[in-house]
Amino acid sequence: MPLRPSRYAVVGRTEFRHPSGRVVRPVLHTATGRVFLADPATAARLDTSQPPVQAGPDGTIAEQVDPVREQQLAAVGLLVDADRDEAAETLAASRAAARDHRVRNTIVMPSAYCNMGCGYCGQQHERRTVSGVHRAALAARIDRAAHSGRYDALNVRWFGGEPLMAFAVLRDLSRSFVASADAAGVRYAAKLVTNGVLLDARKLHTLHQQCRVGLIEITLDGPAEAHDASRPLKRGGGSFHRILATVAAALADSELVDLRFIVRTNVGLHNAGLAEPFAAELAAAGLAHDRVACYPAPVHSWGNDVSAVAVARREMAAAELAWFRAYRRHGLRFSLLPSGPRQVVCAATTRHSEVVGADGRVYSCTEQPLVPGHTGQDLGSISTLDADALRPVGAFDDWYDTVAAGETPCRGCAILPVCGGACPKLWREGAPPCPPLRDNVRERLDLYAADAGCVPLHEAHPAAGAQPD
Ligand code: SF4
Ligand code: SF4
Repeated sequence: MPLRPSRYAVVGRTEFRHPSGRVVRPVLHTATGRVFLADPATAARLDTSQPPVQAGPDGTIAEQVDPVREQQLAAVGLLVDADRDEAAETLAASRAAARDHRVRNTIVMPSAYCNMGCGYCGQQHERRTVSGVHRAALAARIDRAAHSGRYDALNVRWFGGEPLMAFAVLRDLSRSFVASADAAGVRYAAKLVTNGVLLDARKLHTLHQQCRVGLIEITLDGPAEAHDASRPLKRGGGSFHRILATVAAALADSELVDLRFIVRTNVGLHNAGLAEPFAAELAAAGLAHDRVACYPAPVHSWGNDVSAVAVARREMAAAELAWFRAYRRHGLRFSLLPSGPRQVVCAATTRHSEVVGADGRVYSCTEQPLVPGHTGQDLGSISTLDADALRPVGAFDDWYDTVAAGETPCRGCAILPVCGGACPKLWREGAPPCPPLRDNVRERLDLYAADAGCVPLHEAHPAAGAQPD
């Protein structure tokens, strides 16, 4: 069977001089997340954006196929049998992962209220916390899952509204969940997604030591002035410096050494150009630290109109690179490239994940509760669902069949394995959610090569295409 380049080999445009003296071009294999620094002949063999080598007038071709190289490339999946349907294999792996997941994921909104009033937020907040009846039903459901023998681990994500508005509920439920996991002998891990305003040293100790929260994701929308304007407190006043000081203190606290942080910046027109002062402020506060990872996320629609603040797709791809460069200049940690395939794209595509709203309603997608026009898409109440059964089928559990049927361009996309289609809900709403990676993957490969000490030989390879698909 003849070999051809994998459709998931994305070849960088630029040739570099490696510190060893070799000339290389970076190659990302999106099926595995591995990056290679390939010699020019190998890169040319893999780069399907270049025209194939033509036979000369006498029937000879300029370069002979190197059988050793062909076998090496086939061994790592960069060359594949010509008749392989890699997209079908990717989707089959996703279906299997969604079906056979050994981790039960529960996303809980302990509070339907938020103490911030961000202009781009699509949620409608109300003063409500999970009632005692629903708490008991949720604890029982998690206990049954823990003891079912079906799972190796329970993962809980605290989400909102602002989850710390119902800190007592979060603590109470955590106590039950942790006890169930320990009694059943399964692992337990929890993540908190918060605006960070209500965090303090006492809560951090409780969250980490009692509630077993190991990861806290905080949103900071720019340097102090931009953040405080973009994410105003409903009672007035700013929060940037206070949040930074809390995180910095946690990093120095010997009882919190296993607690990690993610700093997300929601990037819109208001702050897209503020990467440099933002990164400088974080570094000055001590957040250039192995336990803090940063990423920029484009502001997107939750069904609300964000056209006045969202950055257009191509501009966002360029802005993201500027954020990465600023992170790097100031020593902040971030993921330049995906580390591996994303088999299950999100909670909404596996019935081993579910979202529990503050009113006790169960959803499959995190952007259904509290979002006007979507709250009616619940799958039932936590108090009446069969505690031993998986959640009912939701709107996006057929996602991998949808992609296989070609209802979106994802099936033909070179980054499908690491993207997974990004967001089924946005596709169904007619708003393609392609992440900036689709547009800037080759520039990211250039940054990767530079990080490895490589020096560009000249500008982008003239024959390389602009798109990864
Ligand atoms: S969402 Fe966009 S980038 Fe992701 S797989 Fe689909 S087409 Fe590709
Ligand atoms: S469908 Fe989109 S909004 Fe819903 S959980 Fe998945 S990624 Fe999130």
